Amino acid sequence: METIYFDNAATTRTEPEVLEAMLPYFVEEYGNPSSLHEYGLHAKKAVSEARMTIAELLGCKPNEIFFTSGGTEADNWAIKGTCLAREAGNAEEKSLGHIVTTAIEHHAVLHTCRFLEKRGYAVTYLPVDELGRISLTELANALRPDTFLISVMYANNEVGTVQPVGEIAELARQRGVAFHTDAVQAAGHFEEKLSTSGITFLSASAHKFGGPKGVGFLYVREGTKLVPILHGGAQEQQMRSGTENVPGIVGMAKALELTMKKRRERERKVAELRDYFAGRLLAEIPMSRRNGDPEECLSGNLNMSFAGVQASSLLVFLDMAGIHCSSGSACTSASSGASHVLLAMGLSDQWINGSVRMTLSEHNTKEQVDYAVEKMREFVAKLRDQNPAWKK
Ligand SMILES: *Cc1c(COP(=O)(O)O)cnc(C)c1O
Repeated sequence: METIYFDNAATTRTEPEVLEAMLPYFVEEYGNPSSLHEYGLHAKKAVSEARMTIAELLGCKPNEIFFTSGGTEADNWAIKGTCLAREAGNAEEKSLGHIVTTAIEHHAVLHTCRFLEKRGYAVTYLPVDELGRISLTELANALRPDTFLISVMYANNEVGTVQPVGEIAELARQRGVAFHTDAVQAAGHFEEKLSTSGITFLSASAHKFGGPKGVGFLYVREGTKLVPILHGGAQEQQMRSGTENVPGIVGMAKALELTMKKRRERERKVAELRDYFAGRLLAEIPMSRRNGDPEECLSGNLNMSFAGVQASSLLVFLDMAGIHCSSGSACTSASSGASHVLLAMGLSDQWINGSVRMTLSEHNTKEQVDYAVEKMREFVAKLRDQNPAWKK
């Protein structure tokens, strides 16, 4: 049986060229970049070249790229590190200050904000409309004199909705508030010129764009006050201690380079396949709906709901038929509870319970989509037949 992978928002395949670029740094060039001998210097050079590649691709300076263990660390660092910098500067102030974020963030941001709230920070979680978009007016109105950080994700991992990051950055700049964006889903999908963007912090993770797991980066605009959260050997301009993940960093730069090179062509092709998939499902399965913004959306994301169906049962059937997709985000599917994203979008229970996410890549084909549509028709019908509440 062929297996079909429709879960690219959870993670992507490490591309063979990426693996090839990484391999020498395990067995031959395995030096520690901090060592002063030849092995160390070679590793240091590899890390520095990767930093330059990433900076060039994103239109920023190499010294504004800090390597991390992934998206989660980058998000935690941007937010907690900004809080710590503020505490250091505001020793006499009673209130710790105010953060504005959204109700649909990844848990790496959401749970960080909840943690800070318990420690005395004030946090506003902006609502979203039925397409998953925040309102710029509501954002502007939420800002207070003590607001020091806005954290709004670039693109949502569950429904793919892309936020107006340019306008948010402009507003943040006007108000003198730092702006962090979790771009883990967006990196590699958009043309970026960070130096003129008004973005203060941007988080990314290699395994979401064809690189290895366990490595990512945080862009930090030059001159920004940020306090380290990892202390030790003072790597990364004394901002992020820990021996650099040299093969991972090399692989991440290679993956970003590859993905950006094919960007335009791939985005068009993947979106076309995704829209074909959506069109067939909507036409052929009654009482189905597409979730998220069909216009301002990641190219590969398709979040669909089928009324009268329990998504977890549908996913089991699909999995047995070799089709791998997910409900909501991969990170939350193990923990109980409905999708916080779909809830924030105001969907009713029947749509939330029957929601599945298909996230496509350039490796998916029309044949795979056709097969998946047939199977989904069959399984949705079967599950509805078994549902006594559905018949009425
Ligand atoms: C995957 C993901 C993360 C977490 O990144 P890791 O590298 O897996 O820690 C954070 N934010 C978003 C939007 C994601 O999709």
